[in-house]
Amino acid sequence: MSETRTDGGSEDYEHYEAVVVGCGPGGAAAAARLAEHGIETLVLERGVEAGSKNVSGGLIYAEDSAPYTIDDLFPDFREEAAERPVTDYHIHNIDGRQVTTYDLTDLHEHDTDWCDAVLRRTMDSWLEQRVHEKTSETGGGVLTGVRVNGLLRENGEIVGVTCDELDPIRADYIVAADGVNSELARAADLMDWDEPDEWFQGVKAVVDMDADVINDRFSIEEGEGVAHLFSGDLFEDVRGGGFLYTNEDTLSIGTVFHLDSLVAEEAEPHELLDALLTHPLLAQWFDGEYNELEYSAKLVPDSKKVAHREPYADNLVLVGDAGGQMQAQGPIIKGMNHAVTAGALAADAYALTRGNADPEAAGRRYTTMLEQSGTMGKLRPRRYELTSTVGEHDLVTKAVEGVLNSPVGSIAVGNPIAKRLLPKAYNSPFLVGMLPDTSMAYTTLPSLIGEKHGRTVHWENEIEPPSLEERIGDLTYNTDVGNPHILLQDESFEASGAAVYACPVSAEDFGGGCYRAETVKTNGSEEKLVSLDTQPCVECGTCAIVADTEWTHPRGEKGVEYKQG
Ligand SMILES: Cc1cc2nc3c(=O)[nH]c(=O)nc-3n(C[C@H](O)[C@H](O)[C@H](O)COP(=O)(O)OP(=O)(O)OC[C@H]3O[C@@H](n4cnc5c(N)ncnc54)[C@H](O)[C@@H]3O)c2cc1C
Ligand code: SF4
Repeated sequence: MSETRTDGGSEDYEHYEAVVVGCGPGGAAAAARLAEHGIETLVLERGVEAGSKNVSGGLIYAEDSAPYTIDDLFPDFREEAAERPVTDYHIHNIDGRQVTTYDLTDLHEHDTDWCDAVLRRTMDSWLEQRVHEKTSETGGGVLTGVRVNGLLRENGEIVGVTCDELDPIRADYIVAADGVNSELARAADLMDWDEPDEWFQGVKAVVDMDADVINDRFSIEEGEGVAHLFSGDLFEDVRGGGFLYTNEDTLSIGTVFHLDSLVAEEAEPHELLDALLTHPLLAQWFDGEYNELEYSAKLVPDSKKVAHREPYADNLVLVGDAGGQMQAQGPIIKGMNHAVTAGALAADAYALTRGNADPEAAGRRYTTMLEQSGTMGKLRPRRYELTSTVGEHDLVTKAVEGVLNSPVGSIAVGNPIAKRLLPKAYNSPFLVGMLPDTSMAYTTLPSLIGEKHGRTVHWENEIEPPSLEERIGDLTYNTDVGNPHILLQDESFEASGAAVYACPVSAEDFGGGCYRAETVKTNGSEEKLVSLDTQPCVECGTCAIVADTEWTHPRGEKGVEYKQG
């Protein structure tokens, strides 16, 4: 047990040398590495178990160039916590029933030592056990069911954390690994990204399928796995795409969209997921059977725009999604691996500066390490900053769209040279890293490729995904009755109406979700108002950005509990 110190403060509180908030990949890596340095470390996790709050697609990458990978820190990780390695990687460009498929192995293998599919409940709960063993040896450990709700300050300086379930805890070093919509990053005034175009929203279904059936339908052997990506007109004009990954005996199928695009198109996330699930191309893998085990959703930050260049304040550092460190490298999503790297670097930075009287010494060292290791360069590539200024300018976007939609564009994409060059372009990390975030990249070009070079898919996909009501009904909730964790500040449709569409458990024609809109008559005039019921909330974070809310996570162990993640 840790000593208790007063340190000149008015209260006696528990003290740990390091406190890590969150036991996802970022927090687990930070805590494991702190413990390896012999630093007394306490990990606080709000879920009933690590992973019970978490969602990923999810492929975890081990990059050749990364200073730390997850198996560096947890050597048995691949055998014990991961699903299948990815041995086959494809992207499908879709125009109606016309599909052009490219092998993306070269892009996938660029800088990749290995890449495995994971399910977060299995993965994170396994990590939690290992982290608990390691940190217990330092006098700390992992405490689950504890939500950190703020920062303990003394004379304005951060000296610890405050929690819903425990007294405040003092710490010499605080690692905020509390994921997307980090309450600690906000409390430290470090989160300066809150516009929809700085985020993606991911929605996912985990689908039951026997291992033998997976092997048969995807033409793979035991110990092999596939990744399929989808883009084109199946999501209409919403910018983003879909994925399908094979796990041991389930499939992870989902969509990731730019949040600003979801809002602009008034698209409903569950319908976009259904558009993917019911596309004829997927009939070959379902063969008419569909058993969805879990529906889930989460926001992720777009590191190109928001990765914090100086992710520290006093003795607090941000790692992983809390620091905006989620990289969308074209169609490839890399968040977990960067969270691991950042967590481990944050731990090393503290070990190197331990004893320094300047509370920001570790934060500065961590910032330097993120730069020097090349991590920040991947998260915020300079070439994106250069090309996006031009490529995402409205006039340029319109001009490019105009050309692609004209006979010239049609000839340019449809000719035999393009047919040969396009797969190469898709496999170029350099070109993919420069793609502008416009509908040209996500919809117009992939559809044109599908139309010009595609084969027609004649299968009929007859599966029926569950309704939103059934999806919510299948989730496990521990509702904090009478204590809603999100408060609607402005109920006018102008301020908060976007949540009726963008909330993944709400829909315009569904009364059982979180957000609803209704027209009410007041003093002879009509007004469209929004109401909120947090009971079905899956804690994705969307309405913190698109609606006027006071947004917090539920108290420890409360709210949704994912079994798959
Ligand atoms: C649909 C989807 C697909 C994705 N696909 C991929 C992919 O294929 N590959 C990839 O690498 N990444 C993917 N990502 C992104 C990836 O999931 C994140 O980047 C990654 O999980 C970030 O790790 P983290 O440790 O920073 O945060 P998280 O994994 O979110 O962990 C944060 C932890 O902190 C806890 N916590 C939060 N607040 C508090 C609090 N106040 N007190 C106590 N505990 C708290 C949470 O319960 C959680 O356990 C995807 C994300 C989504 C949504
Ligand atoms: S209420 Fe907000 S946080 Fe909850 S699921 Fe809906 S959008 Fe996400």
